[in-house]
Amino acid sequence: EVLAEEPDKPEDLLPRAPVVTVMGHVDHGKTSLLDRVREANVAAGEAGGITQHIAAYEVKIDQGRVVFLDTPGHAAFTKMRARGAQCTDIVVLVVAADDGVMPQTIEAIDHAKAAEVPIVVAVNKCDKPNAQPERIRQELTQHELVDEQWGGKTIIKDISALTGDGVSELMELLVLEAEMLELKANPNKKARGTIVESEISRGLGPVAWVLVQTGTLRIGDVFLAGDCYGRVRSMQNARGEDVEEAGPSTPVVVTGFSGPPDAGDTFVVLEEERVARTIAEKRAELAKQRSQRRPHVTLEDFHDLMMAGEKKELNVVIKADVQGSVDVLETSFQKIGNEEVKVTVVHSGVGGVNESDVLLASASDAVVIGFHVTANARVQKLAEEEGVEIRTYRVIYEAIDAVRSALEGMLAPESREVVIGHVEIRQIFRSSAVGNIAGCYVLDGEVSRGSLVRITRDDVIIYDGKIATLRREKDDAKTV
Ligand code: GDP
Repeated sequence: EVLAEEPDKPEDLLPRAPVVTVMGHVDHGKTSLLDRVREANVAAGEAGGITQHIAAYEVKIDQGRVVFLDTPGHAAFTKMRARGAQCTDIVVLVVAADDGVMPQTIEAIDHAKAAEVPIVVAVNKCDKPNAQPERIRQELTQHELVDEQWGGKTIIKDISALTGDGVSELMELLVLEAEMLELKANPNKKARGTIVESEISRGLGPVAWVLVQTGTLRIGDVFLAGDCYGRVRSMQNARGEDVEEAGPSTPVVVTGFSGPPDAGDTFVVLEEERVARTIAEKRAELAKQRSQRRPHVTLEDFHDLMMAGEKKELNVVIKADVQGSVDVLETSFQKIGNEEVKVTVVHSGVGGVNESDVLLASASDAVVIGFHVTANARVQKLAEEEGVEIRTYRVIYEAIDAVRSALEGMLAPESREVVIGHVEIRQIFRSSAVGNIAGCYVLDGEVSRGSLVRITRDDVIIYDGKIATLRREKDDAKTV
C-alpha cells in the first residue's frame, strides 16, 4: 500500500544510465579495471568523503554515463540477488587474454545468466606479448558468448587495464549496450533504490550508499530501508561533493539513518516519518521472530511444491571432484524430466561446494548436489542461514536416483549425516605393520573409536571409512 511503487506512464520514462558489475576469474584484472575507472572519476584520496569505501561511482563520457558497483566478484552480486535486489543491468566479464576461460569465468557466466543480466566481455591484458584474444573468443563461443564481429550477440572488447588501452571504448560500448536494452526510469516521483553498503561513520552515525533507481531523492526526504528509517540529512556523490538531489542510476552516500541497513535492502521514500518508523519497527520485530530465513526448495518437498502447482522445475547446482562426473550428472539430470517437470542445472563445476554456490542456489531457489565433495564449516553455516539444501553423494546412481525420486515424490528417507567433530591431520607416520598412521589434532567436537570419517583435501573427498584404532600418546582412547 504505502510501499507500492507509483506506476509510470510510458511518456514519463526517460533513458537512464546502466549499472555495471565487474566479474571474472581471480587475477584476470577485475580490481585493476575498477581501479583505472575509479582513478579518473573519484576524488583523489577520497578526501572529504565520509565513508571508508567508495561503493559505487559514475563515469561520464560524451555519449552518456555508466555506473560501476565497486564490489568485484559474483559472490557479492549474487548475495544482493539472494536478498531480492537486482541492481545490475550489465555484467562486465573480465577474461585475461594470456590465460583463458577459467572455472570462475564460467561461474560468473552462470551467475549472470541465472539473473538474466546481459554480459559484455572485456578481454584484458592485451598488452602482454603472449596475449591471445582470438583464442579467448573461441573459448567463449562454447558458453554462448559469440562476438558481434563473428555474427553473434555479445560485445567483446580487447583492453588493457594496465595501460588503459581500450578502456574508454569499453565505456562507450557499455552506453551503447544500455541504449539497446532501453533502460528507462521516471525521475519525477518519489525515489526508490537499493542499499549497496552501509557503515557507522564517526560523528555522523549510520551512513549508507544508496543506488537511486527510479524517482529523485532529495534532502529532507523521509525513507525506509529494511528495518531502518530516517530523513535524508545530507547526500554526497562519489567525488565527495555535497548534492541536493539524486536521480535514477545515481549512487549517493546518505546520512540520517536510524541504524545501519543491510546491503540489498530496498530503499523507499515515504510521505510520513511516523509511517516509516512503524513499518521499520514492525519489520525488526518480525525479523526477530523469524530468525530463520524462508528455507529454499529441498529434494524432499519438491514433489509437494510441484503437485501444488508452485514448481515445474527443479533447479540444481552440481559440484563434483572431476569434470567427468560433472558431465555425467548434468546429462543424466537433463534426461530425467518429462513434459510436466524438468531439472535445470543453474551451475556446475569441479571442486568443493563454496559460498558462491550456496548464494547462487539461494538466489535461484536451487538444491546443491555434491559428488565426492563436501562443503566446509563456513559454507555449511551459510547454507543453514540461507536455507539452502546441500546433498552429497558418493555413488553416481544414488545422486541420479535421488533427483529422479524427488520429481516422482518417492524419495527414500534420507540417511542423515551428523557431524560430531573436525580433526586436522598434521603428520603421517608410516608403519610396516599397520600402514599409515595419521597424527591428528581435534579442532572441534570429538572423535571416537569406530567413528565414520571422511578425509577431505580442499573440500574434495579423498577417503571415506571408519576409524580402526584411536590413541592418545601411547594409550588407547575411546574418545578424544
Ligand atoms: P582480480 O583478481 O581479477 O581483481 O585481478 P587484479 O586486478 O588484482 O590483477 C591481477 C594481476 O594482473 C595484477 O598483478 C595486475 O597488475 C595484473 N594485471 C591486471 N590487468 C592487467 C593488464 O591489463 N595487463 C597486464 N600486463 N597486467 C595486468
